[in-house]
Parts: sequence; C-alpha cells; structure tokens
Amino acid sequence: MTAKRLDGKALADTLRTALAARVAARTAAGRTPPGLAVVLVGDNPASRVYVRNKQKACELAGIRSWLHERPADVPQRALLDLIAGLNADPQVHGILVQLPLPPHIDEKAVIDAIDPTVDVDTFHPENVGLLAAGHPRFYPCTPHGCVQLLRHNGIDTAGKEVVIVGRSNIVGKPLALMLMQKKTVANPAGGDATVTVAHTRTADLAAVCRRADILVAAVGVPKLVTADMVKPGAVVIDVGMNTVDGKLCGDVDAGVWAVAGAMTPVPGGVGPMTIAMLLENTVIACEQLDG
Ligand code: NAP
Repeated sequence: MTAKRLDGKALADTLRTALAARVAARTAAGRTPPGLAVVLVGDNPASRVYVRNKQKACELAGIRSWLHERPADVPQRALLDLIAGLNADPQVHGILVQLPLPPHIDEKAVIDAIDPTVDVDTFHPENVGLLAAGHPRFYPCTPHGCVQLLRHNGIDTAGKEVVIVGRSNIVGKPLALMLMQKKTVANPAGGDATVTVAHTRTADLAAVCRRADILVAAVGVPKLVTADMVKPGAVVIDVGMNTVDGKLCGDVDAGVWAVAGAMTPVPGGVGPMTIAMLLENTVIACEQLDG
C-alpha cells in the first residue's frame, strides 16, 4: 500500500486565493484592508524564515503586514509597550509574536498582553477558554490547518479513534479540544472524535498509536513514528518540522507511507496550511473589528 498524499500546499493555495478575493472585494468597497503586525525578537534563523513566509503570504493575499524586529536582549517592558501600541493601532487587526522568545522574557506575560480580539494565533487565555467552551473567536492556526486538511480530503473524524502525540499549547492540546468538540453550526471545526493525547510519560506509545484511525504526530522528534506504530490504512498527520542534515523532515518515518491509508508530506503538508489559517484569522479579525 502507498498512502494517499494529503497535499497541504495545494489546499493552502486554493484557500489563500479565496481569501485574496475576499480581501479584494473588501478594499474595492472602500473598507480598510486587513493588517497583521509581526513581532520578531532575536536572530533565530528558523523564526526568521517562518516570519518571512508569513509576510510573503500576507502580501499575496492583499493583507498589509508590518515587521517589528527587536534584539535578543530587548527588555520585557519594551516588548510589552510595543504590544500595547499595536493593540491601540486601528490598522492592526492581528498581532503575531513569533515564538520562542529569549529566556529572560516571560512568554505568558507577552501573550497575555495581546488584545484577545487581535490574537490571531489564538494563544491568549481568553481565546483558549472560548475554544474549550465551544464558542471559538478564532481557531488556532496549526490545529485548524490539520482539521481543514482532513475535511477537504473527505476524512470524517466523527466516531473515529484519534491519537495525538504531543500535548503542547500550540498544537496537541488545542487540536485535541477541536477534535473532541461536538460539531455544531456555530462550531463547524468540532470533530466528534474519541481523542487520546500521548506524551513522554505515555506507557507503550507504540500500542497507543496503533489504536488510531487518525494519528497526529506533533512531537519535534525526527522520525519518531515508525511503520510498526501505525494501524494499516490509518490517516497520519505529520505536524513535525525538524531539520536533519540541513533538510526539513517531520516526526514520521518515511516507512509509514507503505502502511498508512493517507498521509501529509513534510514539507508541503501542515506547514502551508498553518500560514493559510493565520491569514484567515487576520481577515476574520478585520471583519469583526471593522465590519
Ligand atoms: P513542544 O512544545 O516541544 O511539544 C512537544 C510534545 O511532544 C510534548 O508534549 C512532549 O511531551 C511530546 N514528546 C516529545 N518527545 C516525545 C516522545 N519521545 N514520545 C512521546 N511524546 C513526546 O513542540 P510543539 O510546539 O508542539 O511542536 C511539535 C513539532 O511540530 C515541532 O517539530 C514543531 O516544529 C512542529 N510545528 C509545526 C508547525 C507547522 O506549522 N507545521 C507548527 C507548530 C509546530 P511532554 O509534554 O511530556 O514533554
């Protein structure tokens, strides 16, 4: 068996084209174009690449973006002041602080400082709470990208056993929340799945993974998930973005292509979808704030 390729790049291109049309219609009607402020602290090369890709995608969709770079030793107070200024700027509909931040900065304090109505990453506790309660203001970008990849490929999650390896606030935890939620008109990304979240303390990870109809790897360990851990025919979503010998690779070993029924590639899977969902949240924030 060779797994069907779940092409995140192609889907993201389609979604971004639709968003560009939505933005163009808005600006043609004389309304403010959506605007995203990006804050980049320090000189992490991977963060720089992510930020560049996000800004390029904004430009193609007609979304304005501004990059606010600060040195790695920026005082926390200065960063909080910057965010307060962006919160008050009517041209800014989304604020993204690229993580990770240097160790002297309290990441939670920075996230808490972002106005929840422009928190397009969906990291602010108010937005996490709304998501958990089933009344999301925004869907978090990477989990939403995974859900959209499943949906657009006709993969129903209702009643399925989903195993997510990784319990981070950015990926594993919010994805679990989304997939376990009851699907309703108000919460169309609800998944109605039976969800298990695995992590470093999970006993017999391989056996837990083999239960999955849909297996998500969001770990940050290259090739952690091997063919013997996957139920034949399962859908495998590889969120991992690791660099090995200068090349990007996921958390799933290439041998899994021979066992899975469908799988996302790395690159070209979840990564481009994350960016498309960020743009969508920025447009939604703009529509919510400016009508
Ligand atoms: P993270 O915050 O480091 O969390 C990793 C999670 O994996 C933790 O819950 C950890 O368990 C678990 N884990 C680590 N080693 C494990 C092992 N051997 N067995 C079982 N569980 C293990 O990472 P993250 O931010 O969620 O990111 C995960 C991966 O996704 C990274 O490669 C990252 O670059 C990638 N990513 C990609 C995108 C995208 O757009 N494609 C977006 C975000 C992240 P504990 O909690 O027990 O420590």
